[in-house]
Amino acid sequence: MNISEHILTQFTVDAVWLHKSVNVRYQSGFTGDDTDALIAADCHCLLTDARYTQQAREECPQWETIDHQGRLTGALKAQCERLGVRRLGVEMQAISAALYRQLQQEIPTVELIDTDADQLRQVKSDDEIASIQHACRIGDRALKDILPLIRAGVTENELRRELERAMLAHGSERTAFTTIVASGYRSAMPHGIASDKVVANGEYITFDFGAVYRGYHSDMTRTFVVGHASPEQRRMYHAVLHAQEAACAMIRPETVGSEPDALVRRLLAKDGLASYFTHALGHSVGLEIHEGPNLSPRESRALVAGMVVTVEPGVYIPGFGGLRIEDTTVVREDGLQLLTQFPKELVEL
Ligand code: ZN
Ligand code: ZN
Repeated sequence: MNISEHILTQFTVDAVWLHKSVNVRYQSGFTGDDTDALIAADCHCLLTDARYTQQAREECPQWETIDHQGRLTGALKAQCERLGVRRLGVEMQAISAALYRQLQQEIPTVELIDTDADQLRQVKSDDEIASIQHACRIGDRALKDILPLIRAGVTENELRRELERAMLAHGSERTAFTTIVASGYRSAMPHGIASDKVVANGEYITFDFGAVYRGYHSDMTRTFVVGHASPEQRRMYHAVLHAQEAACAMIRPETVGSEPDALVRRLLAKDGLASYFTHALGHSVGLEIHEGPNLSPRESRALVAGMVVTVEPGVYIPGFGGLRIEDTTVVREDGLQLLTQFPKELVEL
């Protein structure tokens, strides 16, 4: 079964319109943006404009490239008429209400069917896993490079710039998301993006960052202590590390996304820390930094070999500080394989 038949059967539609760039890329190989795809039994079309027609023809020689000259819905109408489409799959999550209304007006007789094309990307191929692993390796190397720079007196933003520079130097296409560098009281913010705060002795400092390789993301968090760790910092660190490793050890194919999350909450509760773990345990990673399925209390989907998920417990105590430890991993038949390899023992810098 080729991709078009597979998609059309899965969603019981005559054609699927893909609007989200990562889904267009996944199906066609086209790496630009602002370009849509239409897939039907006898049609693989890229709908784009003059900025991208040449690139589309070069990257996707098997696909027909149509220049819609800024009139996307008009081009969709023409194709639906040509192909006799009665039921059109639409990524409702990815289009604006305005675009939806415009399409309804343009093709009132075509039934628009909500289509989740993201789910087609959940299980990664060996090639995709190799790209994610490469991105993870870039992150590992970059963090190692900047370790000597982490000391009292530098600002979070200085460390952020050095980390991002190192990732680019090791081959990252860009940063996977806004780099988080959070020290001292700011480490109690799970998503404290780097600020001009000066790093001081005795503080936790958390780095959460990722690289991108061939469009695929990595995601890793490590927390260090600047100077000497207090007994309390040490206790909290080991509680989170123990929970993170236990979650990694339990995951295998058919593990339901809520199970490792529940395990981590049970383990942290023994140390009185469960109420400070305020986000989900993890998410899938691929062409997007946040994909499904998740590792969270609400996730009922089971994991499948080839899925790439993060495992990232953390505790955040306002006024005291916080820490998180995160790996990007791949689900294998016999358990979880770590793709991020940076050591996890407590490091005092
Ligand atoms: Zn992260
Ligand atoms: Zn993450």
